[in-house]
Amino acid sequence: MMVTPLTVARMFDYGGTVHGHNVVSTWTGAGTRRTTFAELLRDGKRLANALRGLGVTGDQRVATFQWNNAEHLTAYYAVPAMGAVLHTLNLRLFPDQVAYIANHAEDHVVIVDSSLIPLLARTLPEMKTVEHVIVTGDGDVAPLGDRVTVHRWDELLAGASDEFEWPEVDENDAAALCYTSGTTGNPKGVAYSHRSIWLHSMQVCMTEGFGISSGVRELVIVPMFHAMSWGIPYAAIMSGAELLLPDRFLQAEPIARMIEAERPTRSSAVPTIWGDLLTYLDTHGGDVSSIKEVTVGGSACPPAMMHAYQERYGIRILHAWGMTEMSPLGTIGRTPPGISAEEEWKYRYTQGRVPAAVQARIVGPGGDVMPYDGQSVGELEVRGPWITGRYLGEDGPDPEKFSPDGWLRTGDVGHLTHNGYLTLTDRAKDVIKSGGEWISSVDLENALMAHPAVQEACVVGVPDEKWGERPLATVVLRPEATATVEDLRAFLGETVAKWQLPERWAFIQEVPKTSVGKYDKKRVRAQYADGDLS
Ligand code: ADP
Repeated sequence: MMVTPLTVARMFDYGGTVHGHNVVSTWTGAGTRRTTFAELLRDGKRLANALRGLGVTGDQRVATFQWNNAEHLTAYYAVPAMGAVLHTLNLRLFPDQVAYIANHAEDHVVIVDSSLIPLLARTLPEMKTVEHVIVTGDGDVAPLGDRVTVHRWDELLAGASDEFEWPEVDENDAAALCYTSGTTGNPKGVAYSHRSIWLHSMQVCMTEGFGISSGVRELVIVPMFHAMSWGIPYAAIMSGAELLLPDRFLQAEPIARMIEAERPTRSSAVPTIWGDLLTYLDTHGGDVSSIKEVTVGGSACPPAMMHAYQERYGIRILHAWGMTEMSPLGTIGRTPPGISAEEEWKYRYTQGRVPAAVQARIVGPGGDVMPYDGQSVGELEVRGPWITGRYLGEDGPDPEKFSPDGWLRTGDVGHLTHNGYLTLTDRAKDVIKSGGEWISSVDLENALMAHPAVQEACVVGVPDEKWGERPLATVVLRPEATATVEDLRAFLGETVAKWQLPERWAFIQEVPKTSVGKYDKKRVRAQYADGDLS
């Protein structure tokens, strides 16, 4: 067979011509602005010329500090296509973390949305390698100061040619960079290659993936700075799916309005987004009938939420698991054919099945590889062509994160069935170790969130003199709902062993979230660990 490189440029040229009429819609708050894939390709070539003009050569890093919108998408395709490396900065991190990441990646240019100028301005003085800032939108650029050269996107592109010959690159060269959100220690960089992006995109397009294909209209809620938006932007240009981008309008109310107006057929996001939208829909109503399926991942999807969407809104939740280190797709919750409805639900509660390219194994406490028997619990290790072999800037695989034979230690604990379905019981650092036994914080959360009065429940282990650790349950009640600790303990007692029931409770307004919208258990522990706060 011919060996032709699998590159982002190839995808971009293909999508921009064969699917040139496809529309990308960016929400403006009141409606949408529309761009076709052909226009993205034209603007991408202008951007590439403009970046060359700013001195971007080789694999220099071009960072984005952006919402999900058409300009961000242009950079997603054009920066790797021109041979440079796209670095998606997470705008929800603390300023010192953003500066750390930009310096570590040695970013040369930052493309920023004008609504984010005040935020970037706090970090920019510490970004030592950044020389140019390109601003999309009309905001005041004065806060950016004069240490860097500031350009307006529209002017820069208007002055650039739309002819650009994408260079030949090695498919194993870096195309994009994303940092883990660093819940412990400094964030770590993961460099995706052209080849890994290509292979991962094919999986995202497959039915045994998210089924992204021509005819799909995807509402992309996963931030484009979180794990490459789960691979959806690349899968879309490769397959001709249309995209609806919410820009900065990420609350439940505008999302519900966007869905009514633009009628997407699919979407993807972390559970907290879907939880908020569910409460909004249940309270205010709304037509979400265009959506047939949503992918939920990033943290465990509560079964009660799957049932609520299915039964009240006809939306099928597809559970998936992944990591920034894995591009991110690791498992997908498609179910086997020919099973009863009851059995099907059991499969849907799991994190899903590993695809062919992802090898997975469970390693027990003593280092033994456990059988695929649906029972043997241990740490999950993975390897495959879209899984990182080491972190950016490190000489070799970090022995804490990689096994001696080169598998990624995920830090997730669970088991695998004979037919490849993964159930995660917890993250290793969140498992509650009580008197020598393990309590799954996720099981307690899922059980609590099945109570009709509970909107969110986050369970963490807190120190206990007698048992070492005991669970603390923090609970957010639904608007206007009431429930006491006794009610919730009694409810939990119906499905959970008595010794696992939490003694410590706190009713709170909101569970603190990480920069990508997951429960921030570190902060929950720090804020509520001191005893009974009910
Ligand atoms: P961060 O580590 O900053 O949260 P990632 O998005 O890379 O950033 O997180 C990956 C982790 O998220 C996984 O190792 C796992 O613990 C968790 N995770 C992702 N998807 C799921 C899921 N469907 N169920 C349970 N945990 C999940």
